[in-house]
Amino acid sequence: MASSPRTNGRRTVAVIGGGAVGVATASFLLRDGHDVVLIERGGIGEGASFGNAGCLNPSSVVPMSMPGTLAKVPGYLIDPLGPLSIRWRYLPTLAPWLARFVRAGTRARVEAQARALKPLLYDSYGAWLPLVRHAGAEGLILRQGHLVVYRTEQDFAGDALGYQLRRDNGITFDVLREDELWQFEPSISHDYTIGVLFQQNGHTVNPNRLVRTVAEAFQRDGGRILAAEAKGFLREGATLRGIETDAGAIPADAAVVAAGAHSRRLATSLGDDVPLDTERGYHVLIADPETAPRLPILDASAKFVSTPMETGLRLAGTVEFAGLDAPPNWQRADYLLTLGRRLFPGLAAHYPEGRVSRWMGFRPSMPDSLPVIGRASQCPDVAYAFGHGHVGLAAGARTGQAAADLIAGRAPAFDLTPFAPTRF
Ligand SMILES: Cc1cc2nc3c(=O)[nH]c(=O)nc-3n(C[C@H](O)[C@H](O)[C@H](O)COP(=O)(O)OP(=O)(O)OC[C@H]3O[C@@H](n4cnc5c(N)ncnc54)[C@H](O)[C@@H]3O)c2cc1C
Repeated sequence: MASSPRTNGRRTVAVIGGGAVGVATASFLLRDGHDVVLIERGGIGEGASFGNAGCLNPSSVVPMSMPGTLAKVPGYLIDPLGPLSIRWRYLPTLAPWLARFVRAGTRARVEAQARALKPLLYDSYGAWLPLVRHAGAEGLILRQGHLVVYRTEQDFAGDALGYQLRRDNGITFDVLREDELWQFEPSISHDYTIGVLFQQNGHTVNPNRLVRTVAEAFQRDGGRILAAEAKGFLREGATLRGIETDAGAIPADAAVVAAGAHSRRLATSLGDDVPLDTERGYHVLIADPETAPRLPILDASAKFVSTPMETGLRLAGTVEFAGLDAPPNWQRADYLLTLGRRLFPGLAAHYPEGRVSRWMGFRPSMPDSLPVIGRASQCPDVAYAFGHGHVGLAAGARTGQAAADLIAGRAPAFDLTPFAPTRF
């Protein structure tokens, strides 16, 4: 589609949602010379982008639904504090999503999903760098690698397809065993005997500050932030005229929906009933920890990531299906502390009140592990950029570039067909 004829390609663009994806999108749109307003109903960077594990991992091309995942689910569900839980009352709502999730896990489909994720996650650190540099906050992102650890050869062998998918997509890694692993990362327990090191991966030491700092630079450069909830779109046929918000209507001739797990209603109003749900996740943050790794570590069996943050040691993970309204189950967060002590024997057995904070957030999850990036069916002036599940921070900057390309009418740097809202 050609850019709006109204003002030599300069458009008034509203970006709905001030998380990692929305803020990156707004920043790239501003660089294109548009008049950009970022609409956020809460605090900037306080959605899922607040409390994630901070990983900027090109290696995350492996989808969540894999051949064999289904067979593991009963085992996970028996343990109420295991890596996966479903609130049973939510099951009828979730069932169609789950059916799609299972269907997405065939060999052929996971190979296609990994291929699609490759350009979105490619050099994630490098994709964020221009925005972070421009904001004067280079220390916020680091490229120190990422370590995945296993207790047994059997556990490692169980992930063979994931490593094959990575190899197929150009991701390199080194396997470290026993002494080599323990010397590389002295903080971990010797119960872990195998480590897989991805040298090219990066991380942020504070995802919330990363998003806020980039948003502050956006404002300094002339972008506007509106504290309001977007309620719907004002249209004349297929042409966008504005955004309806709880603070009144604002004019816009283009828009990007980047409202994370809350994007479904907005997309449905434009004719795209996308199967977006949420995988809720938790973290605990230990301030001033006795020990910490020097790079993010994924415990592949217990399925949580420990990341050294500027605010302490963050242990983040778990998947809980319970929708957007159910209250958090803080036992799931507290259990991460138990798992953390297994990985890092140097952590204290007890922490006094105030040393450990807990958080729950909503991953915006699609059943095929691919986000939605494309134009709205009934209104091509609106682009979608949501549904990034476990990789929204890592993919945020490249998604922002792609969304800006859609608004400008430029060909995106990679094929967006796998991310089409109409693919279901
Ligand atoms: C425990 C955990 C660990 C994770 N670890 C990683 C990791 O290491 N690496 C990684 O890449 N990803 C990770 N993720 C996933 C990542 O956090 C998300 O994919 C990402 O934050 C999604 O960003 P977003 O901008 O789409 O959504 P959000 O950050 O949720 O932002 C959406 C924003 O839209 C606003 N909003 C919603 N509706 C409206 C409306 N109608 N009007 C105005 N504003 C609205 C919300 O208030 C919110 O601020 C993790 C997630 C969890 C839960």
